[in-house]
Amino acid sequence: MKIGDIFKNKVLTTSFEVFPPNDKVGLDQVYNCLDTLTLENPDFISVTYGAGGNTKGRTVEIAERIKSQNNVEALAHFTCIGSKKEEIDRVLNELEKNNIENILALRGDYPIDRDLEPGDFNYAKDLIKYIREKKGDKFSIGAAYYVEGHRETNDLLDLFHLKEKVDTGVDFLISQIFLDNEFFYSFRDKLEKLQIDKPLVAGIMPVTNAKQIKKITSLCSCTIPKKFLKILEKYEDNPAALKEAGLAYAIEQIVDLVASDINGIHIYTMNKPETAKKIIDATGIIRK
Ligand code: FAD
Repeated sequence: MKIGDIFKNKVLTTSFEVFPPNDKVGLDQVYNCLDTLTLENPDFISVTYGAGGNTKGRTVEIAERIKSQNNVEALAHFTCIGSKKEEIDRVLNELEKNNIENILALRGDYPIDRDLEPGDFNYAKDLIKYIREKKGDKFSIGAAYYVEGHRETNDLLDLFHLKEKVDTGVDFLISQIFLDNEFFYSFRDKLEKLQIDKPLVAGIMPVTNAKQIKKITSLCSCTIPKKFLKILEKYEDNPAALKEAGLAYAIEQIVDLVASDINGIHIYTMNKPETAKKIIDATGIIRK
């Protein structure tokens, strides 16, 4: 089923993100993770795409597994920088052959340790346009958004680019991690003024260890709220307490977003299903 259609019939979706591993052992772990996540009845599970990396090929393989064996809708992430049209065509055909109907169309990040071969696409919107031209409505297409702005662009310009991207043929939007819901609410107001009315899914990462916070801040512009800094300082030498507090923080964030009519909650599981399960259990009735 197309995710765009799921949003037409549901007030609130719940979904998960997993990432492809580097080796065969890791693949078995991901499959175990998927089996556990499936028990939580998600609306869809997404699989990331290693831009320029060696885990690229596994995205379709894992998405196919989600769809055929877990009987859950799969969302395949797909990045385009450094790619030629031939490679994009090959992956699109593979997705089609494997009955994957949903793509999260992304630009990808420029690698810091090497140059990229010049490709045929500069931005996510170029990929979306290409998919729509080649495949029409064959796929439901999602795209990324950034409630604190994308780190390469100022807020206003980024909004203008988001509007262009959405108008190219996007069905739903999934956010980069954020830890302060107020950024989301003020961003949503701006989208309303720009008449961007696509379903907005909040990407939530339960921060359960100090290493994760470094990763988050290196990935994107994400303000660490005072409230959260206090948790980090208080429990930096107590991993078990930090884990519990991080989980409680994510749950509180979700309760507030659901009470404010968010369209979807997408949990970045980091391939750790236990954490996702705890969040789902703690918010069961709220998400109904
Ligand atoms: P775009 O929408 O193309 O925007 C990128 C930048 O270009 C922005 O600053 C935008 O304002 C600017 N821009 C857009 N159009 C123009 C224009 N015409 N002229 C000038 N500037 C312009 N990365 C991976 O490698 N693999 C993944 O699986 C993956 N999954 C993700 C999932 C989610 C939900 C999110 C939020 C991000 C994900 N990323 C992933 C990271 C993503 O690739 C990066 O954040 C990347 O830097 C931007 O991707 P985008 O699709 O948002 O790019």
